[in-house]
Amino acid sequence: MNNSELVFRIAVGVLMAMWMFTRFYFQRRLGSVERASRRHDRRERISYALVSVSFIPVFVYVFSSRLELFHFALPEGWRWLGAALGVAGCALFWWTHAVLGRNWSGVLELSRDHRLVTAGPYRSVRHPMYTAFFLMSAGVLLLSANFLVGGLNLAAVTYMYLLRVADEEAMMLEQFGDEYRQYMKRTGRLLPKLARARGEAAAS
Ligand code: SAH
Repeated sequence: MNNSELVFRIAVGVLMAMWMFTRFYFQRRLGSVERASRRHDRRERISYALVSVSFIPVFVYVFSSRLELFHFALPEGWRWLGAALGVAGCALFWWTHAVLGRNWSGVLELSRDHRLVTAGPYRSVRHPMYTAFFLMSAGVLLLSANFLVGGLNLAAVTYMYLLRVADEEAMMLEQFGDEYRQYMKRTGRLLPKLARARGEAAAS
């Protein structure tokens, strides 16, 4: 393995460490929250498990050269773009946890004193934490230039997102009614709405 491959491996390792530290830190700080309702079915547990399992090849890649078979050629510039996406994903992951606070949960559920958060990244995007997952996944795919390492994770994250997002919005609509309906009009799911679309929504 040449030196730059080692640098890319270390970069993926650092990103993973930042990602995991964020989750553990906020999970610990959260302590116990009284839950009012839960939409936590088997499908959801499976998708959660899939995302967790899809991180295994990432660890194998960081600590060994065993997955070289799945490597594909990619110019260095693309790989560094991956590092930038990963850093952006980690920063957004931290920000969303910090802003959601006690309203965060790993599964679809509402706490007893649940508030609709519309600050920080939630001002213009409804699911910025999922955006962070996609940024991190795309970042690891480009940085590792490895189908198995990045591809499996991206597939698992896409599956989790598609399975969850409609249910999550239905749950929020049920809980917050018109407040969430209005919020949906001015926000995009993963990216901010274009100014024109937002203007039209405000006018309607
Ligand atoms: N989909 C969001 C949050 C993921 S965490 C994102 O991608 O950023 C999942 C939990 O967050 C859900 O159980 C839901 O209760 C809560 N949640 C989602 N959006 C919220 C919001 N705008 N305000 C408060 N809680 C929210």
